[in-house]
Amino acid sequence: METRIKRTALNITTYCNLNCKHCLAFIPYYNDKHSMSIEEARGVLKNYFQVVDSVEHFTVTGGEPLLNKDVYQILNEVFLYEQQITGSVDFVTNGTIEISEEILRLFEAHRKNTKVVLSNYGVELSTKINVIEEELKRRNINYRVSKFYGNDLYYDGWIDFSDHSKKWNTIEERDKNAQKCVHRVGKYFVINAGEIHCCSRSFWRIHEGIIPKIEGEYVALMDEEIPLEQKRKDLMEMYEKKSSTSCGYCVGLCNDVPRVKPAQQLKFKC
Ligand code: SF4
Ligand code: SF4
Repeated sequence: METRIKRTALNITTYCNLNCKHCLAFIPYYNDKHSMSIEEARGVLKNYFQVVDSVEHFTVTGGEPLLNKDVYQILNEVFLYEQQITGSVDFVTNGTIEISEEILRLFEAHRKNTKVVLSNYGVELSTKINVIEEELKRRNINYRVSKFYGNDLYYDGWIDFSDHSKKWNTIEERDKNAQKCVHRVGKYFVINAGEIHCCSRSFWRIHEGIIPKIEGEYVALMDEEIPLEQKRKDLMEMYEKKSSTSCGYCVGLCNDVPRVKPAQQLKFKC
Protein backbone atom coordinates (compact mmCIF):
# COMPACT_ATOMS: atom_id res chain seq x y z
CA MET A 1 0.00 0.00 0.00
CA GLU A 2 1.37 3.37 -1.00
CA THR A 3 0.72 6.41 1.14
CA ARG A 4 0.46 9.44 -1.12
CA ILE A 5 -1.16 12.46 0.45
CA LYS A 6 -1.87 16.05 -0.48
CA ARG A 7 -0.91 18.31 2.38
CA THR A 8 0.55 18.36 5.85
CA ALA A 9 1.41 21.31 8.07
CA LEU A 10 4.07 20.92 10.74
CA ASN A 11 3.43 23.17 13.71
CA ILE A 12 6.86 24.12 15.06
CA THR A 13 5.69 26.49 17.78
CA THR A 14 2.60 27.55 19.67
CA TYR A 15 4.20 30.92 20.42
CA CYS A 16 3.09 33.92 18.41
CA ASN A 17 3.74 37.64 18.63
CA LEU A 18 0.19 38.42 17.50
CA ASN A 19 -2.89 37.61 19.49
CA CYS A 20 -5.66 36.95 16.98
CA LYS A 21 -9.05 36.32 18.56
CA HIS A 22 -10.16 34.02 15.74
CA CYS A 23 -6.86 32.26 15.12
CA LEU A 24 -7.69 29.07 13.20
CA ALA A 25 -5.19 27.17 15.31
CA PHE A 26 -6.32 28.72 18.64
CA ILE A 27 -2.71 29.77 19.28
CA PRO A 28 -3.45 32.61 21.77
CA TYR A 29 -5.42 30.19 23.93
CA TYR A 30 -2.68 27.58 24.56
CA ASN A 31 -1.58 27.50 28.18
CA ASP A 32 1.17 24.96 27.52
CA LYS A 33 3.09 26.79 24.81
CA HIS A 34 5.96 24.92 23.25
CA SER A 35 8.54 25.34 20.50
CA MET A 36 9.80 22.20 18.80
CA SER A 37 13.55 21.68 19.11
CA ILE A 38 15.65 20.48 16.18
CA GLU A 39 16.04 17.11 17.95
CA GLU A 40 12.24 16.73 18.21
CA ALA A 41 11.81 17.85 14.61
CA ARG A 42 14.34 15.26 13.38
CA GLY A 43 12.41 12.47 15.11
CA VAL A 44 9.01 13.67 13.90
CA LEU A 45 10.17 14.15 10.30
CA LYS A 46 11.95 10.79 10.18
CA ASN A 47 8.82 9.02 11.38
CA TYR A 48 6.48 11.10 9.20
CA PHE A 49 8.44 10.32 6.03
CA GLN A 50 8.45 6.61 6.90
CA VAL A 51 4.67 6.66 7.24
CA VAL A 52 4.10 8.91 4.20
CA ASP A 53 5.62 7.91 0.86
CA SER A 54 4.94 11.28 -0.68
CA VAL A 55 3.18 14.54 0.11
CA GLU A 56 2.39 17.26 -2.40
CA HIS A 57 2.68 20.26 -0.07
CA PHE A 58 4.53 20.26 3.23
CA THR A 59 4.03 23.42 5.29
CA VAL A 60 6.12 24.72 8.17
CA THR A 61 3.95 26.88 10.38
CA GLY A 62 3.07 27.87 13.95
CA GLY A 63 2.17 30.18 15.77
CA GLU A 64 4.84 32.35 14.24
CA PRO A 65 7.55 29.91 13.09
CA LEU A 66 10.28 32.59 13.10
CA LEU A 67 9.97 32.68 16.90
CA ASN A 68 11.35 29.14 17.05
CA LYS A 69 15.11 29.47 17.64
CA ASP A 70 15.73 26.26 15.63
CA VAL A 71 13.65 27.32 12.64
CA TYR A 72 16.60 27.37 10.20
CA GLN A 73 17.76 23.90 11.23
CA ILE A 74 14.21 22.55 11.07
CA LEU A 75 13.70 23.93 7.55
CA ASN A 76 17.06 22.47 6.56
CA GLU A 77 15.91 19.12 7.88
CA VAL A 78 12.62 19.34 5.95
CA PHE A 79 14.52 19.91 2.70
CA LEU A 80 16.39 16.62 3.29
CA TYR A 81 13.08 14.94 2.38
CA GLU A 82 12.63 16.95 -0.81
CA GLN A 83 12.43 13.75 -2.89
CA GLN A 84 9.21 12.86 -1.08
CA ILE A 85 7.69 16.35 -1.36
CA THR A 86 6.33 16.46 -4.89
CA GLY A 87 4.95 20.03 -4.89
CA SER A 88 6.38 22.58 -2.48
CA VAL A 89 7.74 23.25 0.97
CA ASP A 90 5.57 26.12 2.19
CA PHE A 91 6.63 28.48 4.95
CA VAL A 92 3.91 30.60 6.58
CA THR A 93 4.80 33.78 8.42
CA ASN A 94 2.82 36.75 9.68
CA GLY A 95 5.00 39.56 8.33
CA THR A 96 6.21 40.81 11.71
CA ILE A 97 9.79 39.49 11.67
CA GLU A 98 12.34 39.76 8.87
CA ILE A 99 13.48 36.42 7.49
CA SER A 100 17.13 35.80 8.37
CA GLU A 101 19.89 35.68 5.78
CA GLU A 102 20.56 31.97 6.39
CA ILE A 103 16.91 31.08 5.83
CA LEU A 104 16.73 33.22 2.70
CA ARG A 105 19.83 31.46 1.36
CA LEU A 106 18.25 28.11 2.12
CA PHE A 107 15.15 29.14 0.17
CA GLU A 108 17.35 30.28 -2.72
CA ALA A 109 19.15 26.94 -2.70
CA HIS A 110 15.77 25.16 -2.92
CA ARG A 111 14.10 27.75 -5.10
CA LYS A 112 12.21 25.24 -7.21
CA ASN A 113 10.39 23.74 -4.24
CA THR A 114 9.94 26.72 -1.94
CA LYS A 115 6.86 28.83 -1.39
CA VAL A 116 6.72 31.52 1.29
CA VAL A 117 3.18 32.38 2.36
CA LEU A 118 2.91 35.87 3.82
CA SER A 119 -0.14 36.55 5.96
CA ASN A 120 -0.64 40.26 5.53
CA TYR A 121 -2.72 41.82 8.31
CA GLY A 122 -1.91 45.36 7.17
CA VAL A 123 1.20 47.33 8.09
CA GLU A 124 -0.03 48.13 11.59
CA LEU A 125 0.24 44.46 12.53
CA SER A 126 2.40 42.95 9.80
CA THR A 127 4.97 45.66 10.35
CA LYS A 128 7.77 44.08 8.25
CA ILE A 129 5.61 42.86 5.40
CA ASN A 130 6.91 45.30 2.77
CA VAL A 131 10.58 44.70 3.59
CA ILE A 132 10.07 40.93 3.52
CA GLU A 133 8.17 41.03 0.23
CA GLU A 134 10.82 43.23 -1.42
CA GLU A 135 13.59 40.88 -0.31
CA LEU A 136 11.76 37.79 -1.60
CA LYS A 137 11.14 39.56 -4.90
CA ARG A 138 14.76 40.70 -5.18
CA ARG A 139 16.01 37.16 -4.61
CA ASN A 140 13.41 35.63 -6.90
CA ILE A 141 12.03 33.41 -4.12
CA ASN A 142 8.52 32.15 -4.81
CA TYR A 143 5.91 33.64 -2.46
CA ARG A 144 2.28 34.52 -2.22
CA VAL A 145 0.43 36.99 -0.02
CA SER A 146 -2.79 36.13 1.83
CA LYS A 147 -4.44 39.51 2.23
CA PHE A 148 -6.28 39.75 5.53
CA TYR A 149 -7.09 43.47 5.78
CA GLY A 150 -9.30 45.93 3.91
CA ASN A 151 -11.34 44.63 0.96
CA ASP A 152 -10.83 41.55 -1.24
CA LEU A 153 -9.91 39.36 1.68
CA TYR A 154 -8.33 36.00 1.08
CA TYR A 155 -11.06 33.35 1.59
CA ASP A 156 -13.44 36.33 2.09
CA GLY A 157 -12.21 36.62 5.70
CA TRP A 158 -12.01 34.33 8.69
CA ILE A 159 -14.49 32.07 10.43
CA ASP A 160 -15.27 32.02 14.13
CA PHE A 161 -14.62 28.43 15.28
CA SER A 162 -14.91 29.20 18.99
CA ASP A 163 -18.35 27.64 19.47
CA HIS A 164 -17.54 24.00 20.19
CA SER A 165 -21.09 22.82 20.77
CA LYS A 166 -22.34 19.78 18.86
CA LYS A 167 -23.56 20.91 15.44
CA TRP A 168 -24.37 17.75 13.53
CA ASN A 169 -26.05 14.80 15.18
CA THR A 170 -25.83 12.07 12.59
CA ILE A 171 -22.82 10.83 10.66
CA GLU A 172 -24.68 11.71 7.44
CA GLU A 173 -25.16 15.36 8.50
CA ARG A 174 -21.56 15.54 9.69
CA ASP A 175 -20.24 14.05 6.45
CA LYS A 176 -22.40 16.37 4.38
CA ASN A 177 -21.09 19.50 6.08
CA ALA A 178 -17.48 18.32 6.19
CA GLN A 179 -17.62 17.68 2.46
CA LYS A 180 -18.07 21.45 2.03
CA CYS A 181 -15.10 22.22 4.26
CA VAL A 182 -12.09 23.44 2.30
CA HIS A 183 -9.81 21.84 4.84
CA ARG A 184 -11.46 18.43 4.64
CA VAL A 185 -11.92 18.40 0.89
CA GLY A 186 -8.39 19.72 0.36
CA LYS A 187 -7.15 16.82 2.53
CA TYR A 188 -5.02 18.90 4.86
CA PHE A 189 -3.40 17.24 7.81
CA VAL A 190 -1.46 18.81 10.66
CA ILE A 191 1.37 17.53 12.83
CA ASN A 192 1.05 18.71 16.41
CA ALA A 193 2.88 17.28 19.41
CA GLY A 194 4.36 14.43 17.34
CA GLU A 195 0.98 13.26 16.02
CA ILE A 196 -0.80 13.60 12.69
CA HIS A 197 -4.30 15.07 13.14
CA CYS A 198 -7.11 15.93 10.73
CA CYS A 199 -6.84 19.69 11.28
CA SER A 200 -5.85 22.18 13.96
CA ARG A 201 -9.51 22.50 15.11
CA SER A 202 -9.58 18.75 15.68
CA PHE A 203 -6.25 18.81 17.55
CA TRP A 204 -7.41 21.71 19.74
CA ARG A 205 -10.73 20.03 20.62
CA ILE A 206 -8.88 16.86 21.67
CA HIS A 207 -6.26 18.91 23.54
CA GLU A 208 -8.99 20.71 25.48
CA GLY A 209 -10.99 17.54 26.19
CA ILE A 210 -13.97 18.81 24.15
CA ILE A 211 -13.94 15.59 22.14
CA PRO A 212 -12.32 12.25 22.96
CA LYS A 213 -9.08 11.07 21.39
CA ILE A 214 -10.24 8.21 19.22
CA GLU A 215 -8.06 5.55 17.63
CA GLY A 216 -8.09 5.94 13.86
CA GLU A 217 -8.47 9.74 14.07
CA TYR A 218 -4.79 10.49 14.63
CA VAL A 219 -1.44 8.83 14.00
CA ALA A 220 1.01 8.71 16.90
CA LEU A 221 4.18 9.11 14.85
CA MET A 222 6.54 8.73 17.80
CA ASP A 223 4.92 5.67 19.38
CA GLU A 224 7.42 2.89 18.78
CA GLU A 225 5.00 0.23 19.98
CA ILE A 226 2.76 0.77 16.98
CA PRO A 227 4.13 -1.04 13.90
CA LEU A 228 4.91 1.13 10.90
CA GLU A 229 2.41 -0.72 8.70
CA GLN A 230 -0.34 0.02 11.24
CA LYS A 231 0.51 3.74 11.21
CA ARG A 232 0.39 3.75 7.41
CA LYS A 233 -2.96 1.97 7.43
CA ASP A 234 -4.39 4.39 10.05
CA LEU A 235 -3.24 7.36 7.99
CA MET A 236 -4.90 6.15 4.82
CA GLU A 237 -8.12 5.40 6.68
CA MET A 238 -8.10 8.95 8.05
CA TYR A 239 -7.37 10.21 4.56
CA GLU A 240 -10.32 8.44 2.98
CA LYS A 241 -12.92 9.25 5.67
CA LYS A 242 -15.49 11.91 4.79
CA SER A 243 -15.39 13.44 8.29
CA SER A 244 -14.08 12.88 11.80
CA THR A 245 -15.49 13.39 15.31
CA SER A 246 -14.34 17.02 15.37
CA CYS A 247 -16.40 17.80 12.25
CA GLY A 248 -19.52 17.09 14.30
CA TYR A 249 -18.67 20.11 16.50
CA CYS A 250 -17.62 22.38 13.68
CA VAL A 251 -19.20 24.81 11.23
CA GLY A 252 -16.36 23.96 8.84
CA LEU A 253 -14.26 26.12 6.62
CA CYS A 254 -17.16 26.39 4.19
CA ASN A 255 -18.11 29.06 1.66
CA ASP A 256 -21.59 29.51 3.15
CA VAL A 257 -20.42 30.23 6.74
CA PRO A 258 -20.45 33.94 7.73
CA ARG A 259 -17.05 35.58 7.92
CA VAL A 260 -15.51 37.65 10.68
CA LYS A 261 -12.91 40.38 10.36
CA PRO A 262 -9.45 38.72 10.30
CA ALA A 263 -6.75 39.32 12.90
CA GLN A 264 -8.84 41.12 15.52
CA GLN A 265 -6.40 41.40 18.40
CA LEU A 266 -7.36 40.25 21.87
CA LYS A 267 -6.77 43.07 24.33
CA PHE A 268 -5.14 40.81 26.89
CA LYS A 269 -2.81 37.87 26.47
CA CYS A 270 -4.78 34.69 27.19
S1 SF4 B 1 -0.62 35.55 13.58
FE1 SF4 B 1 -2.66 35.34 14.45
S2 SF4 B 1 -3.61 33.74 13.18
FE2 SF4 B 1 -1.41 33.60 12.84
S3 SF4 B 1 -0.71 32.07 14.33
FE3 SF4 B 1 -0.49 34.10 15.29
S4 SF4 B 1 -2.37 34.38 16.49
FE4 SF4 B 1 -2.74 32.72 14.98
S1 SF4 C 1 -15.24 20.54 9.44
FE1 SF4 C 1 -13.99 21.50 11.05
S2 SF4 C 1 -13.07 19.77 12.13
FE2 SF4 C 1 -13.80 18.99 10.15
S3 SF4 C 1 -12.03 19.15 8.79
FE3 SF4 C 1 -13.24 21.03 8.56
S4 SF4 C 1 -12.30 22.50 9.97
FE4 SF4 C 1 -11.60 20.44 10.57
